[in-house]
Amino acid sequence: MGALVKELDNPTFRLAVAQFDQAAERMNLDPNLRQRLKLPERSLMVSIPVRMDDGTVKVFNGYRVQHDSSRGPSKGGIRYHPDVNLGEVAALAMWMTWKCALAGLPYGGAKGGVQVAPERLSRAELQRLTRRYAAEIFPIIGPDKDVPAPDVGTDAQVMAWFMDTYSQQVGFPVPGIVTGKPLSIGGSLGREDATGRGVVYVTLEAMRCLGLDLDKASVVVQGFGNVGSHTARIMQQSGARVIAVSDKSGGVYNPKGLDIPELLRRYRVDGHQSLGDTKMGDRISNEELLTLECTILVPAALSEQITRLNADKVRCRILAEGANGPTTLDADQILTDKGVFIIPDILANSGGVIVSYFEWVQDAQRFFWKAEDIQDRLQEIITAAFRRTQQFSTAKGVTMRMAALMSGIDKVAQAHLARGLYP
Ligand code: NAD
Repeated sequence: MGALVKELDNPTFRLAVAQFDQAAERMNLDPNLRQRLKLPERSLMVSIPVRMDDGTVKVFNGYRVQHDSSRGPSKGGIRYHPDVNLGEVAALAMWMTWKCALAGLPYGGAKGGVQVAPERLSRAELQRLTRRYAAEIFPIIGPDKDVPAPDVGTDAQVMAWFMDTYSQQVGFPVPGIVTGKPLSIGGSLGREDATGRGVVYVTLEAMRCLGLDLDKASVVVQGFGNVGSHTARIMQQSGARVIAVSDKSGGVYNPKGLDIPELLRRYRVDGHQSLGDTKMGDRISNEELLTLECTILVPAALSEQITRLNADKVRCRILAEGANGPTTLDADQILTDKGVFIIPDILANSGGVIVSYFEWVQDAQRFFWKAEDIQDRLQEIITAAFRRTQQFSTAKGVTMRMAALMSGIDKVAQAHLARGLYP
């Protein structure tokens, strides 16, 4: 166990454990359970040999971590990024456990990742990497065991290769092995923009609590991938003024509001490599973007973006955490003291896993729902989770983050106590 703890030790895992410890302390969690829930149930490290287009073989590091399965099969995305490591994957898996429990989904938490810069691989290399990674983690995944989904650096195409590889191994099609796949092989309507849509639904609830109006709100979004781009688009569609967005190369800013559909067209359709190249708005760095005055700030890129070094300069009324773990513990305290309304990650970005759950249910039933049904059910589940969290926060006098963590952890604790310890 000592060796595992050492392998896991990194800032993101420390953040997840520190949040868990704070919540466990506050809720007086059974010490035996505290010990069990701090560490993942199962962690797998794999080497992924890939034949590159030039004929050489490169070996990549891959991971799949299952944090908890007391409430159902574990669920969580797959990240392709050069900084992926076991500790980060384990932290993300732990947050998935609390997120699924908070939303009331019958899932535990998991996460996977490969240490790779996907944009440096050709499409054929990316496919070979994905297929070999899927084959390496095959023994521990399955539609009733552990169900992957997209995350940073992966998309519906990667999920399709993943689904095909798994299906080839077992000899028949298994759509329920992954979510976030294309519609043609059992994907769900509304999955692509589900996380962004969920961010908007919970932000609307927060605005209602604060007596604010989205028509008068300004929005800043860090990250312009799946979560960030859809959040920006739906925020604007819902009446807000989106004044700045960014990707890893920096951002663009226009205090009068950016035209998001046009920006998306230039970025995606015209294939620009960075947002700056789209020639829309003034160029701005990611550091500047996070400190712009706005009503709603949505970090939707990576973790630990708001730290004790910049939290003081953050000037938003609402922080809606589209990304996982974007705010460090110190920064959280600084923002709370400043009166920022924080919608914590495990609540704010749960739209993705909620619609992934719908996809998995549709695959199991071989019966597919209409887009309106998906949006309505997403709104119902995420809004109810927001309201429960808000009521809990008021009743117990704790922050929204603490309320969300305590509610999620409590549901997992109940499941462990009911099932007992084997043997
Ligand atoms: P993505 O790969 O589609 O997009 C990531 C975006 O972040 C890209 O625009 C990239 O350029 C940008 N980025 C990377 N490094 C950056 C940096 N240092 N500064 C600014 N921008 C940077 O990934 P995604 O799926 O949108 O995920 C974003 C975040 O949301 C992650 O934290 C992920 O775990 C979380 N999340 C994703 C989903 C989902 O359904 N995809 C669900 C819940 C949470």
